[in-house]
Amino acid sequence: MAQFKQYQALRLILGDQLNAAHSWFSQKDDKVLYVIAELHQEQHYVRHHVQKIQAFFAAMKQFADALTAAGHQVLWLSLDDTAEYQDLPSLLKALIARFNCQVFGYQQPDEYRLHLQLEQFTQAIDIPVQCVENEHFFLPFNELEQYFERKKHHTMESFYRKMRLRFNYLMVDGKPEGAQWNYDKQNREKLSKADITTLPEPLLFANDVTDINQRLKRHNINHFGHQPQHLLWPVTRSQAISLLHNFCRYCLPQFGRFQDAMTCQANDLSGDKQWSLYHSRLSFVLNAKMISPKQVVDTAIAYYRQQDEVSLAQIEGFVRQILGWREFVRGLYWRNMPEFTNLNHLQATTALPSWFWTGNTKMNCLHHAIKQSLDYGYAHHIQRLMVTGNFCLIAGIHPDEVDAWYLGIYVDAIEWVEMPNTRGMSQFADGGIVGTKAYCAGGNYINKMSDYCQSCHYNVKQKVGENACPLNSLYWHFMNRHRERLGQNPRQALVYKNWDRQADAQKQQILAHAEQSLKRIESL
Ligand code: FAD
Ligand code: SF4
Repeated sequence: MAQFKQYQALRLILGDQLNAAHSWFSQKDDKVLYVIAELHQEQHYVRHHVQKIQAFFAAMKQFADALTAAGHQVLWLSLDDTAEYQDLPSLLKALIARFNCQVFGYQQPDEYRLHLQLEQFTQAIDIPVQCVENEHFFLPFNELEQYFERKKHHTMESFYRKMRLRFNYLMVDGKPEGAQWNYDKQNREKLSKADITTLPEPLLFANDVTDINQRLKRHNINHFGHQPQHLLWPVTRSQAISLLHNFCRYCLPQFGRFQDAMTCQANDLSGDKQWSLYHSRLSFVLNAKMISPKQVVDTAIAYYRQQDEVSLAQIEGFVRQILGWREFVRGLYWRNMPEFTNLNHLQATTALPSWFWTGNTKMNCLHHAIKQSLDYGYAHHIQRLMVTGNFCLIAGIHPDEVDAWYLGIYVDAIEWVEMPNTRGMSQFADGGIVGTKAYCAGGNYINKMSDYCQSCHYNVKQKVGENACPLNSLYWHFMNRHRERLGQNPRQALVYKNWDRQADAQKQQILAHAEQSLKRIESL
């Protein structure tokens, strides 16, 4: 039998815990073995975009190498090494026995599924266990209950103000810098033709993932999406930092202004490269913890202080996403799990159309948002919320299917952030825990914020008829069928007034057209 070196402690590092600044690593200890493993179980709980798997696997290997170079004892295991283990607990059990470890340590996982699995595992082993804070977020895990009450709606804006005060960001003598908390109203511009020609080219990397591709093939891992040999996503801390500085220099000055804008003139694999507009694309490195939210916010504010081109409205908009939204959805996720997983307030039951996996739909907005997601594993917030999410909401797609699609397709998708955004904010399946209203729209909104409609098969101005934009009638069908639930909300009262003003015959025609669209949803 092979003899293995013995370690006093085994410490697990999950794929989204690549935090080099964690206090675990402040001291070298030869008696501690860190384990980072490509796990088969993580490939099967949902079908993933191949670039998501590549990005996590490449980043995990780079992190293992960096820890080793820094003098730590690290065991990195590939899919080949872990194939014989049924799941994470069976792997850990074997490693504890193999290295005769006396203590097992892990960082608080961000996903409920892993939290539960590790909790059950640690209850079943007979050595001491140390579960420590993952030291990534602004709010420590054990403080979440002070900010969030279970099953209760909380407004993001008041949470965000508390966070600004507590962490003293963009504050002057206890008051918001510029005397206003939120500059969102200044941040809703569409891109003109001239604006499109001056979009910054995104900083893309070219990380060789040939070995990972071979392992995925060898182990028959079921994935989808465009599979490159060279991955454009950052997989090391230094690449993450380069991306952050690139964003602050070239994108931050216009970040808020064009945050909601969409274009189909710059986002094809075969065409121009400006598909991410002025967005940071930092979500993957943030969620994998290769960079901390504090470092991102501090760096962006430092640029704001030094560069005249970055206005207060732009920096405030960016800080709000990270200090506000990101921490907010995490708090709501943890305070509402595991019940959140099953919420379906609007009782949506329709199956997700198969074109969500190919982009083959005549609706140009959906075609582009889905195609871009398949090409890059990325779409920006408004594409996720108001294009794909809006369609699923008004067509009444079952939230389980919507969640599975979002959790699989985006490189940054981890359940703690994906689910509150999808099931909560986008699908209103939580009945209003995350958002104050259902984010639903017809074609008008998309036409206002994008150039998608100009080259669409459908006519955005029409509600009925063969070429009418399907979103128009689906929107009214949605509003009409959920009147009892949504009509109570004062923010939606005006919409119902407009509906009621239309002639009965017109209303019937619109509803009948929507019924037809739902019947032929696969061929829209
Ligand atoms: P930027 O626009 O540059 O924003 C900067 C950062 O702010 C992001 O990197 C992100 O960390 C944070 N942020 C912004 N909005 C949110 C938000 N609503 N919730 C949490 N963080 C936010 N984000 C994920 O990280 N993972 C997901 O799986 C995910 N799923 C989503 C699903 C739906 C239906 C919707 C509507 C949104 C989802 N988001 C998700 C939030 C947001 O769309 C992405 O964080 C953002 O598009 C990532 O691109 P970026 O890094 O260029 O963001
Ligand atoms: Fe989308 Fe309708 Fe515009 Fe076509 S016309 S791009 S379906 S909003």
